[in-house]
Amino acid sequence: MKIHPLSDVQSENIGSGTVVWQYSVILPGAVIGSNCNINAHCFIENEVRIGNNVTVKCGVFIWDGITVEDNVHIGPNVTFTNDIFPRSKHDFELARTILKKGASIGANATIIAGHTIGEYALIGAGSVVTKDIPNNTLWAGNPARQKSFVCDCGHKLDEALHCSHCDADYRIVNERIVRK
Ligand SMILES: [Zn+2]
Repeated sequence: MKIHPLSDVQSENIGSGTVVWQYSVILPGAVIGSNCNINAHCFIENEVRIGNNVTVKCGVFIWDGITVEDNVHIGPNVTFTNDIFPRSKHDFELARTILKKGASIGANATIIAGHTIGEYALIGAGSVVTKDIPNNTLWAGNPARQKSFVCDCGHKLDEALHCSHCDADYRIVNERIVRK
């Protein structure tokens, strides 16, 4: 574990091999796994769970109610929310967000609270996500719409649900994509 002296890490629940860079703030309730990279200028609130091998690029604020599973990649300046009806100085109902294992969020995308980003899903840079995202799908735009299916390796699948990059094949079972 490497905690840069210019960060403010108040949590003691940070796994081995995790690195926290300059000017990041991690509140005491946050739980972060092993081998993560928390880049500079991040803020991680109390009610946050982050798995293992997660990359958080610079300028990402992860609020209460957000769960990040293993091997997720969060690009620079990705924006999360946790309040669907925001009003200053009012109590609010926490709207939770889950990023499932292997998902990647492109730079500067916005994830509206209350949604789940599926396993190995890919969100294009600058997208605004307003609904649940199924596993292995690629979404982009504002509001984000599904553009294609995507392989676990991160490359698009062709119409036969084949990945020409790593040669994997997929099929649809009960409206869900599964790897053969
Ligand atoms: Zn592939």
